[in-house]
Amino acid sequence: MHEMGIASSVLDAVRTEAQLHPGLRVLKVGLRIGELAGVDPESLRFCFEALVKDTPLDPLPLEIEFCPRRQRCHTCGCTFDVADYDTNCAFCGLSPTECVGGTELELSYLELEES
Ligand SMILES: [Zn+2]
Repeated sequence: MHEMGIASSVLDAVRTEAQLHPGLRVLKVGLRIGELAGVDPESLRFCFEALVKDTPLDPLPLEIEFCPRRQRCHTCGCTFDVADYDTNCAFCGLSPTECVGGTELELSYLELEES
């Protein structure tokens, strides 16, 4: 399962970060997932919970921020969210536009607390 590998790298990143802050406990993890990243947020959450279970980090809530696909218009320079796969500019209606968002797959934050 694709999501299991991702969940495992997220957890590795969390552990690495936690080691940099001895004496602090990780309370919560924030993750940004783009619409085009090809990741199912619910499966990822499920895998993450399964990996965290029965470890010293348990329970560790995963907060997922979903990032919609965004395009930038070459003609007028505006950026807009894509609805219904329509990549024409939402403002001037002219193509071409380029993809500038929606491929995110990254940690956005870690919430830490003194243990
Ligand atoms: Zn435009």
